[in-house]
Amino acid sequence: MIDLHLHTTASDGTLSPSDLVRAARAAGLSTISITDHDTVAGVRDARTAAREERIDLVAGVEISAVDAGRDVHMLGYFIDIDDPELQAFLDRQRRDRVRRVEEMRDRLASLGAPIDAQPIVDAATHGRSVGRPQIADALVAAGHVRTRDEAFERYLEFDCPAYVPRCGATPESVIAVLHHAGGLSSIAHPGVRPQDDRIAHLAASGLDAIEAAHPDHDQAAEARYRALAARYGLLITAGSDFHGEHRAHEIGAVTLASADFERLRTAAAIRRRQ
Ligand code: AMP
Ligand code: FE
Ligand code: FE
Ligand code: ZN
Repeated sequence: MIDLHLHTTASDGTLSPSDLVRAARAAGLSTISITDHDTVAGVRDARTAAREERIDLVAGVEISAVDAGRDVHMLGYFIDIDDPELQAFLDRQRRDRVRRVEEMRDRLASLGAPIDAQPIVDAATHGRSVGRPQIADALVAAGHVRTRDEAFERYLEFDCPAYVPRCGATPESVIAVLHHAGGLSSIAHPGVRPQDDRIAHLAASGLDAIEAAHPDHDQAAEARYRALAARYGLLITAGSDFHGEHRAHEIGAVTLASADFERLRTAAAIRRRQ
């Protein structure tokens, strides 16, 4: 079984990269990709465990792009994690995350919900990325809200009072960075905030795939994205978007068919030869 969307403690997951590999093995997965937000640190740290557990580990990433002021998550696969341009790009993304944390901290203070953001800022080292999930936890710890969800609903979601926009890259530039690093691009969970009209444009900009199957896609959404992929000649990706036991999505809850995976692998090999 193949699960190409997994998070670790390098971003907002709860399992360390090596623990994630072991959990994937225990869940019966044969191939996984670690796709942390704006970092490849978890891929690097998981490699030894993947060899030990005989798991096929695809180097991945989930990059937060911005289009018309809204976040668009872009998945990268089969990337060279040592590519200097990719590393410089991800460094900039993570620096902007720290800037955003500090601005959200200031807004929360003026809204009467002060938090201690220093531990979050201090955690943003060694390639670790931080963001709203850690702020949500700080809001819970400070007693301003009862749950992470409540923190997002009252303060952190788009259009909420403490929301601070990201200075992110465009989806087109993310596709270019991923291609430069020898990888493929896929638009993550497009059904979460439907953006179907954008897919034609992204396909023309070199998008390689669509994440058709995701826990937040119902059967109709999955069918719609499979049809869009066929229409624009795009490949399919899929995964559970596992963040840890505390979140609804179990590891391996959504998997990719081997035939779809082989198409991705072939496309990546062709791209690297170009
Ligand atoms: P950021 O990277 O700072 O934009 O934060 C986005 C991350 O927050 C997403 O990757 C999700 O994992 C997480 N997230 C988004 N909405 C919620 C929510 N309502 N409850 C818990 N986590 C959420
Ligand atoms: Fe996340
Ligand atoms: Fe995402
Ligand atoms: Zn994700």
